[in-house]
Amino acid sequence: MNKNDIVTVEITDIGVSGEGIGHVDGYTLFIKDAVIGDVVEAKVMKAKKNYGYARLMKVITPSEYRVEPKCAFARRCGGCQIQEMSYDRQLVFKDQKIRGNLERIGGFTKDQIDTVMQPVVGMEHPFGYRNKAQFPFGTEKEGNPITGFYAGRTHDIIANTDCALGVEQNKEILEIILQYMRENKIKSYDEKTGKGLIRHALIRYGFKTKEIMVCLVINGKKLPKAERLIEKLIQIEGMTSITISPNTRRDNVIMGDSYEILWGQGYITDYIGNVKYQISPLSFYQVNPVQTEKLYGLALEYADLKGDETVWDLYCGIGTISLFLAQKAKQVYGVEIVPQAIEDARANARLNGMDNVSFFVGKAEEVLPEQYEKHQVYADVIVVDPPRKGCDTVCLDTIVKMGPKRVVYVSCDSATLARDVKYLGERGYQVEKVRCCDMFGHSTHVETVVKLERKN
Ligand code: SAH
Repeated sequence: MNKNDIVTVEITDIGVSGEGIGHVDGYTLFIKDAVIGDVVEAKVMKAKKNYGYARLMKVITPSEYRVEPKCAFARRCGGCQIQEMSYDRQLVFKDQKIRGNLERIGGFTKDQIDTVMQPVVGMEHPFGYRNKAQFPFGTEKEGNPITGFYAGRTHDIIANTDCALGVEQNKEILEIILQYMRENKIKSYDEKTGKGLIRHALIRYGFKTKEIMVCLVINGKKLPKAERLIEKLIQIEGMTSITISPNTRRDNVIMGDSYEILWGQGYITDYIGNVKYQISPLSFYQVNPVQTEKLYGLALEYADLKGDETVWDLYCGIGTISLFLAQKAKQVYGVEIVPQAIEDARANARLNGMDNVSFFVGKAEEVLPEQYEKHQVYADVIVVDPPRKGCDTVCLDTIVKMGPKRVVYVSCDSATLARDVKYLGERGYQVEKVRCCDMFGHSTHVETVVKLERKN
């Protein structure tokens, strides 16, 4: 196979990033936007010895799983990877990804996996599910401001104010901002020159409270003629918080270090289940509140609390899972590395009048061993929700030493999850249940919850 070769190929598999995989005379081709079951014409862009990457030129026979994407920019935009695959098939893909990793990395047999896997928790409405969007601003050829999303793996902006994953209010808010910029000759920030003012618009929407937040990230300290923007934005029902976040750094971090209120208050409020959260422009908050409630519900179900337990929630972020667990436990301890997140966690505990939760700032693999060795702390149940790289072995070893009767593992990367449950499995913890909860429809992200029980 050589570069620029044109081939006809049937897509027989799905790669980890959702790309189609096909074979031509034993040679493997990875083809973005091709759906399993399609027969496509593709052009080889990069040819290695045994495999290559090809560009989808034409769908010759569409797959039964191929659907019309809702968004006209689905292929180019970096936000979605598999919008052209039916949602039901996306869920099968995610389920299989977890199974594959449990088998290859976790060392489980197919029969064992069949016994523990529960059906995927999918979304009822797989569009319009995101409560947060960060739209970058740029300038089109004629010099007008535009906003939209980055094309995959680049910083080229695709002008689109109507992302299919976001809430419908985004469009109106963005049009108001663009009009304000045009009328007042306010320029978008230019990454190359470091000039221009408007960098990003952060929009958040409380699904339960219907409160809206708009935060403009600006390359400067002041927003000129801000009153003209505010006057338009506050016409939108639910507008609660309008802020700016100055960011004059020349890196890729979106938000500035602080924010300033232009109108209303500095935060919106929302609920996950019965737990209330205050969300500022700089707070972390789960982006899919409907599925988050199901995910945390699952974590709570797997924790199987009766009310007298001591629970540790490692990698607790702003304490969302901790507060969820605290509704059913005697005492919950949260551990998180980011100090600001713990400030939010404590504030949220107070907001909900919960006095059976306390938080530690630090690394799980340092705080937990220290607390265990110095103070012989105890746990009936330990919940972990680590970043993609999974748990540190010191953390896992300490869990094993503490010997809780149950471990609930929430994971955003099923490869490191499989590695860690294997490690725990070799040390007495048996996997009882595994369930995928889809948090990010049309992307290839997979969220998994696992229940492990201590044997003997
Ligand atoms: N459970 C939270 C957040 C999970 S995301 C929620 O559901 O909202 C993973 C979190 O782990 C992040 O907040 C990250 O800051 C934190 N983190 C990363 N490495 C860590 C470590 N070594 N020890 C403790 N926390 C860590």
